Amino acid sequence: MTEKLELIRRLKDEHDLSDSELKKLIESPEPDADLFRAADELRRSIYGEDVYIRGIVEFTNFCKNNCYYCGIRRDNRRVERYRLTDDQILQCCEAGYSLGYRTFVLQGGEDPYYTDDRICGLLEKIRAAYPDCAITLSIGEKSRESYQKYFDAGADRYLLRHETADDALYRRWHPEEMDLSNRKRCLFDLKEIGYQVGAGFMVGAPYQTTEHLIADLRFLQELDPDMIGIGPFIHHVDTPFGDQQSGSLEMTLRMLSILRLLFPDALIPSTTALGTIDPQGREKGFQAGANVVMPNITPANVRELYLLYDEKICTGEDAFQCRGCLEGRVFGAGYRMVVSRGDRIRQGTAK
Ligand code: SAH
Repeated sequence: MTEKLELIRRLKDEHDLSDSELKKLIESPEPDADLFRAADELRRSIYGEDVYIRGIVEFTNFCKNNCYYCGIRRDNRRVERYRLTDDQILQCCEAGYSLGYRTFVLQGGEDPYYTDDRICGLLEKIRAAYPDCAITLSIGEKSRESYQKYFDAGADRYLLRHETADDALYRRWHPEEMDLSNRKRCLFDLKEIGYQVGAGFMVGAPYQTTEHLIADLRFLQELDPDMIGIGPFIHHVDTPFGDQQSGSLEMTLRMLSILRLLFPDALIPSTTALGTIDPQGREKGFQAGANVVMPNITPANVRELYLLYDEKICTGEDAFQCRGCLEGRVFGAGYRMVVSRGDRIRQGTAK
């Protein structure tokens, strides 16, 4: 057995490796077919062919933060800003529900217009209209008190990528006023409150090394999240990182498979960014171990204003078209979309 095969086998059986072994796997020049196969086998042993779907509503592109990589950062004056009303968001949910979505993800920039009272009011309406659905928030860093209020108003899950677990790298990606310790504090608060929590990181972003990626894996082991979202960094022309090279399909798929083997029962999406760097990126993501996809249910007329990075896909379609397109892709890749909340299937032995 080659050394790489032996590492894959051990990762699949033991769900861990040493730092130096992970480094070998991450930097291996050999093809990843065996890695993908191992990840897919493990995923199928828990989730079968099921791919869970979440309808995502990008409800505001106003943001008070100024992350160097993000297209909707505060200082990007070229973005036309928009906010959706409660009624518009509820209409998105209605369309999503009829398409079979039983999870709604509300994502946005950190927009102070949406005070805790407004967010809670919105959550209460969605909760009352869709008692059988999960509600996921992805609205950034808040106080523990705010997270508790949202939870009490009906939110079940929260997505907050840590972005990178390395302090120095975090500094290079964000302005002075943001810091990694607060982001981590948020994640642990969310978990303690009882949310199903999603963290994650960008792959191939500026200045990132293998050691940084290993630090991300170690942080995730410490947090033990229910969901892990990763995607390639993709530059956006109107940001400080506009000239930087984007992350690669190969490295993103490799990290996806390693995540599946480390976290057998995690919910791992095949992301829009993956579908943006390669026309078959999301299909390849499923085959490398992803088991979730997040079709867009944002109203078609504002979609192209929520541009985190250049060339983002699906901005010219409506919710119905996205559903049809994705169902075909999931099926073509050898899986099937299921109509359910799509909660994590916890394994006793999982880390
Ligand atoms: N304001 C929310 C939502 C952020 S957008 C929050 O802070 O959590 C969701 C994710 O998009 C981010 O967490 C980031 O990982 C990713 N993202 C932002 N800009 C990107 C870029 N240029 N390329 C790839 N992913 C990006």
